[in-house]
Amino acid sequence: MGHILKIQPVFKEMIWGGHKLRDIYGYNIPSSQTGECWAISGHKNGDCLIKNGEYQGKTVSWLFENHKELFGTIEGDQFPLLVKIIDAKNDLSVQVHPDNNYAKIHENSLGKTECWYVLQADEGTKMVMGHHAQTKSDFIKAIESDDYDHLLNTFEINKGDFFYIPSGTLHAICSGSLIYEAQQSSDITYRVYDYHRKDKEGHERQLHVKQSIDVTTVPSMHQDSKVFVNTHLDHGTKTRYVESEFFIVDCYRMNGKNTIVNNKPFQLVSILEGEGIMDDQVIKKGDHFIVCSDQDAVTYDGYMTIMITTL
Ligand code: ZN
Repeated sequence: MGHILKIQPVFKEMIWGGHKLRDIYGYNIPSSQTGECWAISGHKNGDCLIKNGEYQGKTVSWLFENHKELFGTIEGDQFPLLVKIIDAKNDLSVQVHPDNNYAKIHENSLGKTECWYVLQADEGTKMVMGHHAQTKSDFIKAIESDDYDHLLNTFEINKGDFFYIPSGTLHAICSGSLIYEAQQSSDITYRVYDYHRKDKEGHERQLHVKQSIDVTTVPSMHQDSKVFVNTHLDHGTKTRYVESEFFIVDCYRMNGKNTIVNNKPFQLVSILEGEGIMDDQVIKKGDHFIVCSDQDAVTYDGYMTIMITTL
């Protein structure tokens, strides 16, 4: 028997946050402006606690530093991935994240490639991804003249949509979105536009225009329309949403008993819908786990939608 670690999320209040994390998942959130649940994280800005077993009360980063054998043979001195649930009651800033190279030089951090699965979207909810500038000078001109209506590529989203956002992609999650996010473990965001919003003290949030111009891919990369590969489980379906150099994300929609093999350094398991059994413990919507490398397989039983992110 290996280690299946139950994880205690960390919550972040945000100017754009709401209270869906409480309403939908029953989390004990700090206020009705809670934007982010860091569901599985070993990042210093939100290091999750382990809730069960021999490492109860330790953080994910502590375990990674002191028991690396539980995470296979991966390199690096920090836990590499981060899983969040994001409740955007209002629009997030228009932003971009650096790649590993830029982040290492300028921030001593990992870069940030991320992906989103839409858990819920209010009617007419939008998303910003990419832009229409063809050259860097057009891009800069649009920023200098605050012409975001023309610059940004905006479209409507629906529950169940999935998006891959490589570093360098200009993006914004918009009002009405509830998003599962898997990303590199990085907290480096370059905000290029924040709608001139002010906080309680009347201040606008800091922008990072120079860095945004540095790291944004121009012209935007074209994303092909996506066809996801489905495979049958004993009782249900697995959908592979992305397989990239940074992470693999699979969604398991189960209607009974399934054994899921773990042949990865670790699996980050999030219960998105339903309830059931995971080996010998009862699990439900909103629970998050790390399945360590010494756990070869996990048997799930129930009607559940489960997202599993791995390297
Ligand atoms: Zn982002």
